[in-house]
Amino acid sequence: MKLFYDFHIHSCLSPCGDEDSTPNNIVNMALIKGLHAIALSDHNTGKNCPAAIAVGQKNGLVVLPAMELATSEDIHILCLFERYEDLCKLERHIQTTRLRVRNKPEIFGRQRILDENDQCIGEEEDLLIVSSGVSVEEAAALVRGFGGIAVPAHVDKQSNGLIGVLGAFDYGLGFEMIECREDVGVRLPRIVDSDAHYLWDISEAEHCIEAETCSAHGVFSALKAMCGR
Ligand SMILES: [Zn+2]
Ligand SMILES: [Zn+2]
Repeated sequence: MKLFYDFHIHSCLSPCGDEDSTPNNIVNMALIKGLHAIALSDHNTGKNCPAAIAVGQKNGLVVLPAMELATSEDIHILCLFERYEDLCKLERHIQTTRLRVRNKPEIFGRQRILDENDQCIGEEEDLLIVSSGVSVEEAAALVRGFGGIAVPAHVDKQSNGLIGVLGAFDYGLGFEMIECREDVGVRLPRIVDSDAHYLWDISEAEHCIEAETCSAHGVFSALKAMCGR
């Protein structure tokens, strides 16, 4: 079956994410847009994924647990998972390597952790938009080792895109898929996402994958198949 997707959406846990980007608002907006599957991908954390997954389950939207990892070179890597437990392993790993800088909410924005009723259950105190300490050389194998897929995000963007930062795409880094709006000549499967920091930026039903079932397992299996696994 054809499933319309947007695998790169930020919530209010990202300092740069809008306060209105709560789990319920994101899921409802994705449904209004006609999507079947999304991934919640905050900077260097997955702590709002449990709420978004629960809201998605109640409303018939597949929500993949994810995070947008910032490598030590400040390259953004979208890390997609099937299971939240696997994402947590990555999060625990980067908690020991991440630069510890206290967030200044008045400058960078708040970093709110919400439950499935959009109630605030905590606030992340360390700034999330700093380097994870993971280098771009180790990212693909590290994420794959935890059961995920590492996808260089917005590769053509000057800031934080792999080609933008390194100057060219290096196949030796071991990535199996890229995220990009336009075809930039990289010979890997490509997904197109919104990188929405505001609800209204979430993708329309434009880009789809072919999956066996409309479930986290079905969607993740389809992504793995695109990667040739
Ligand atoms: Zn990014
Ligand atoms: Zn992003």
